[in-house]
Amino acid sequence: MYDAIVVGARISGAATAMLLSKAGYRVLLLDRAVFPGGKAAATNLLHPPGILRLKRWGLLDQMAATGCPPIREYGLRSGPVELMAELPVVDGVGEAYSPERGKLDQILLDAAVKAGAELREGVSVRELITEDGTVTGVRGEAEGRTPVVEHARVVVGADGSNSTLARLLGAEKYDSHPVLNKSHWSYWEGLPHDGRVRTYRHAHQHAFTWPTHDGLTIVGVALPVRDFKASSDEDRDRTVISAFAKVDPERAQLLRETKRVDRWMTGSVPNFLRRSHGPGWALVGDAGYTRDPITAAGITDALRGAELLAECIDTGLAGRTPLPEALARYGRRRDALVTGHFRYTREHATIANHTREELAFIRAMTRSPTHGRDMVGMFATMIDPAQFYAPASIHALLRYMEPGTDPGWKLRMVRSLIHGAPRRIPGATRLADQLIAKNLGPMGEYLV
Ligand SMILES: Cc1cc2nc3c(=O)[nH]c(=O)nc-3n(C[C@H](O)[C@H](O)[C@H](O)COP(=O)(O)OP(=O)(O)OC[C@H]3O[C@@H](n4cnc5c(N)ncnc54)[C@H](O)[C@@H]3O)c2cc1C
Repeated sequence: MYDAIVVGARISGAATAMLLSKAGYRVLLLDRAVFPGGKAAATNLLHPPGILRLKRWGLLDQMAATGCPPIREYGLRSGPVELMAELPVVDGVGEAYSPERGKLDQILLDAAVKAGAELREGVSVRELITEDGTVTGVRGEAEGRTPVVEHARVVVGADGSNSTLARLLGAEKYDSHPVLNKSHWSYWEGLPHDGRVRTYRHAHQHAFTWPTHDGLTIVGVALPVRDFKASSDEDRDRTVISAFAKVDPERAQLLRETKRVDRWMTGSVPNFLRRSHGPGWALVGDAGYTRDPITAAGITDALRGAELLAECIDTGLAGRTPLPEALARYGRRRDALVTGHFRYTREHATIANHTREELAFIRAMTRSPTHGRDMVGMFATMIDPAQFYAPASIHALLRYMEPGTDPGWKLRMVRSLIHGAPRRIPGATRLADQLIAKNLGPMGEYLV
C-alpha cells in the first residue's frame, strides 16, 4: 500500500512525486514510457514562475547547466508597433529559459527518484480500483503483459491531455474550446542569442522565435486552423520566413542566411479545464488543464499545479484537513490560479489582427514605465489579466497615448470622458470603460 500513486512521470507527475516523497510519503510513480523515451512536442519555453519552482526545489543550476541561456525580455511586434520589455521579477526570479525538453523531464524524474519515489517504467495504467466510490488503486500492464495491481491512499493522474485516468474517472471537461490554431516550428543554428522572446502579429499570423539550448533558436509560426495547410518542408520554410519578412525583414534575412537544423514539427492543442479531483483522486498538469501553446505556459502551469497539489495532498494525508476537503481546496486554488490566463491564452490563440485602437494601446504600453513590463508579465503567467485590465490600470495607460498622433475618434472620446472632466464622474467613467471594451476587442472585454 502506497500513500500516493502518480500516473505519468514527466513534468507534472515527476514534480508531484518528488514533492510528496520529500514530504516523507511512500510514492509509486508509473509511466508507460521507458525513459528517455520519445521527444515531447514542445517549444520548451519556461516562464519565471516555472523557473522559481525549479529554484525552490534546488534544480535550477542543473537545468541552466544543460546549455540554455537566460531570457530576460519578451516582445510583441504588431504592424508598425513594437513592444519589448523586461520581465517582472517574482521572488528574485526574472528570467525565463528554454531548456531541451528531454533534459528537463529527466532532471525532474531523477529528482523524484532521489527523493525516494519508486519509479516503474513501461507500465500502462488501464483501470482504476474503487471501494465505495473512492479510488484506492490502479490496474495496469507492464511490458510482456504482466499485470500490475497497486493500492494507495490517493491516485494522481499526471498522464497528459488525453488522460486515461480522466476517461476512467469520467472527469468532465468544462470551459472547453476546440483547437484554434496550428503551428510549424523548428530549430535554427547560427542566429544571435540576445536573451529575447520575440512574437509577431500580422495578417492573422503569429510568428515566434527565442533562444533555446546548445546555441539553437526556436523559430515558428502559428496560423488559424482555417489557414493552415499540410505542406512540404520547403513550403514551410517559405511560409515561416515570409511570415517574418512581413513584420521583421531583418530577422527574415537572418533566417535566410542561417540554417534550419531539425525537421519541421507541427502542433495544435485544444483548450479545456477538467474536473480536478474527486474521492481518492486528483488530476495535475495537462490532464487537468490543457491550453493552446501560443503562450507557452504548459510546463510552467504543470510545475505550479504540482506544487499546489502536493501541498494539498500533504495536508490531507497528514490529517491536518480531511483528504476530500484538501483535494477540494486544490481544485478551487487551481482554478483561481489558471482561469484568467486561460481566457487570455484563448483570445491570443485566435490570432486576430489588432484593431487600430489596440495598436494605440500597445504603443502607449511602450511609453508607460510599467504597462509594457506588466503586459509581457501577463503573457508569462506572472500578472493576472484581471489586474492588468483593471479600470485603474487602463485609465493610467491612457496618459501614455501618443500626443500629436490621432489614436482614432473612439479613443479620443474615451480619453476626454475619463480625463476631460474637472473631477471624475462615475457615470462618465463607466461609459468610457464600456466604450473602451467595445472598441478594444478582446483586450477591452476584461474591463467590463
Ligand atoms: C506544439 C506544442 C508546443 C508547446 N510548447 C510549450 C512551451 O513552449 N512551453 C510550455 O510550457 N509548454 C509547451 N507545451 C505544453 C507542454 O508540452 C505540456 O503542457 C506539458 O508537457 C504537460 O506536462 P505533463 O507532465 O502534464 O504531461 P505530459 O508531458 O503529456 O506527460 C504525460 C505522461 O503520462 C504518461 N502516460 C499517459 N498515459 C499513461 C497511462 N495510461 N499509463 C502510464 N503512463 C501514461 C505518458 O507516457 C507521459 O510520459 C507545448 C505543447 C505543444 C503541443
